[in-house]
Amino acid sequence: MRLILLGPPGSGKGTQSVLLRDKFNIPQISTGDLLRSAVSAQTALGAKVGEYMDKGHLVPDELVIDMIKERLQDEDCNNGYVLDGFPRTVLQAEKLDEMLASVGEKVDEVVDLEVNPEEILIRLTGRRTCRDCNAMFHLTLKPPKQSGICDPCGGELYQRADDNEQTVMSRLEEYENKTAPLKEFYRKQGKLKSAKGSGSMDDIFDRICSLVS
Ligand code: AMP
Repeated sequence: MRLILLGPPGSGKGTQSVLLRDKFNIPQISTGDLLRSAVSAQTALGAKVGEYMDKGHLVPDELVIDMIKERLQDEDCNNGYVLDGFPRTVLQAEKLDEMLASVGEKVDEVVDLEVNPEEILIRLTGRRTCRDCNAMFHLTLKPPKQSGICDPCGGELYQRADDNEQTVMSRLEEYENKTAPLKEFYRKQGKLKSAKGSGSMDDIFDRICSLVS
C-alpha cells in the first residue's frame, strides 16, 4: 500500500502516519524528519535547507525530490509506505507519479486531514517533540508524565524551531498557496478522501482506517 497523508502543518499527519505504519507494517516516511536529520548531521543537504525551514518556507522541489527518490529505493519500501509531508507541491506530486510509473507502481490512497487554522496554531505552538524518537506531546493537550521527558523512551522534549507563532503563520501560508492545490490534483485522479482531523487520536485513526482499503 502506498499511502499519502495530506493536510496542513499540525493536522496530525505525523501522529497518524506512525499509527498507520504500525497497523500495516510499512515504513512511515516524513520528509520533515529526513530534512531535520540532514540539518543536525550537518550534511551538504542540511546546509542548503536549514534557512528555508527556519523561515517556515518550503525547501526547493529538486532537493526534496532527490532526497525522497533515494529513500523510496530502500528495500523496506518494497511493500509500500505511508508518506507524511510529501508531496507538498503539484510538481512533487507529478514527479512522484512519474517515479512510480517508471517501475509499474502508483499511489494507492490519499487521505486529507482537515483541521481549522485556529486549532492548528494552538496545537503547534504548544507542541513538544522528542529528540530521540520524534514522539509528540503538547503542553496542555497531551502533557508528558514528567515535564520535558518523553514517556516511551525517556528522551529530551524540545520545541521545534519552526513551531513558534510567526513561523507557523508562514507555514500555513505556504500550505494554502502551494500544498492545498494538491487536493484538486488527487481529486481529479479519484484518489482523494477527507477525514476530520479533530477529536481524539484514536477516533481520527478509526476515521482514516475506514477510508483506506
Ligand atoms: P514538517 O515536519 O512536515 O512540518 O516539515 C518541516 C519543514 O520541512 C517544512 O516547513 C519545510 O520547510 C520542510 N519540508 C518538509 N517536507 C517538505 C516537502 N515535501 N517540500 C518542501 N519542503 C518540505
